Amino acid sequence: MKLIFTLLLLIIIPAQAQQFRITRPVPDTVQTNGSYLFGEPSISNPGNAHRGIDISIKWDTVYSATNGSVYFVGYNPNDTIGGYQPSGAGNYVTIRSQYEGRLIYLYYMHLQLPLVEVNDVVLSGQPIAISGNTGFSTGAHLHFEIRMDSPSSTSRKTRNPELWCSMSGMGAIYGKVPNATNSTRVDIFPDPKPRPPYTTFGWALTYNFADPIIGSDDIYGENYAIGDVKPGTYTIRALNNTYTRTVTVGPGEVVNADPPTGLPDQDIFVSDFTLEQNYPNPFNPTTVIGFQLPERSFIQLKVYDMLGNKVTTLVNEERSSGIYNEFFDAFGLASGVYVYVLVVQSSESGRSFRDSKKMMLVR
Ligand SMILES: [Zn+2]
Repeated sequence: MKLIFTLLLLIIIPAQAQQFRITRPVPDTVQTNGSYLFGEPSISNPGNAHRGIDISIKWDTVYSATNGSVYFVGYNPNDTIGGYQPSGAGNYVTIRSQYEGRLIYLYYMHLQLPLVEVNDVVLSGQPIAISGNTGFSTGAHLHFEIRMDSPSSTSRKTRNPELWCSMSGMGAIYGKVPNATNSTRVDIFPDPKPRPPYTTFGWALTYNFADPIIGSDDIYGENYAIGDVKPGTYTIRALNNTYTRTVTVGPGEVVNADPPTGLPDQDIFVSDFTLEQNYPNPFNPTTVIGFQLPERSFIQLKVYDMLGNKVTTLVNEERSSGIYNEFFDAFGLASGVYVYVLVVQSSESGRSFRDSKKMMLVR
């Protein structure tokens, strides 16, 4: 029996880790800049966020991270400083590819010299450009960005490249700190980076969702990520240690720091149905709504405006007992008061529960 249990664990545990999806566009000797991560407040406009990662490659070969075709080349050979887009990307190349049936657009910015032309077919690992310092750039580097579905930066469609690729032999960690305001500091111990000199290696920031372009991964749903992590076991802490996780990462693995959703938090006995006040409140544009179930129940959690029009359904399913936190993203909604309503029907005792609370969106 014990042997069978052990075997089951061996089978189940590796399945929880995900794999990287693309190759890294530079050699392993080149690092990603740890002091200006994906989702951090933008240097040029702090109300927005950094929509990609900065890779510290200086006038050297950039390789395609995917198979694909060249969607766009912006190159101005007559402006060696500003390039094609002097106030932004400088010279840049966009490669169109796909992941699991969805189009993805990969942006390689601040280039010195593109090596490909529009409609060229490229293979993963093929040289596509020489990196540079063109456009809005404070030193030679490659800004690497991933957009889902569309080349335009539409709502919540940029993804954190550190969860898509890494240095060989490294892993990545992601998670969701509940009740975290934008740009909340998330610490990780010990130092996970493969080598110095990462300027900031002991922490990440939750994404600045004030920028409507910044999105979480469709599978991971994270609000923070730490990339290029040495294999090992780490402790992650945020919000004065109210968020504490221990996580083990193997080479090539993308690992969730949080317990699997749907399972109750350990050692917490849930005695009654409750619906919590959302946090933060007032909010802009994301907030978290907590509730707890003492027994397995069918639940509906819906948001309404003050006229009684349904805005969205956040949950509509049966869940086991436990404590839950749901993200609500009010992107695109007007400022004002909204009401969220929890309706519960226990699958075990047949008890029912209903509660509602108000929350305020302030833009
Ligand atoms: Zn950048």
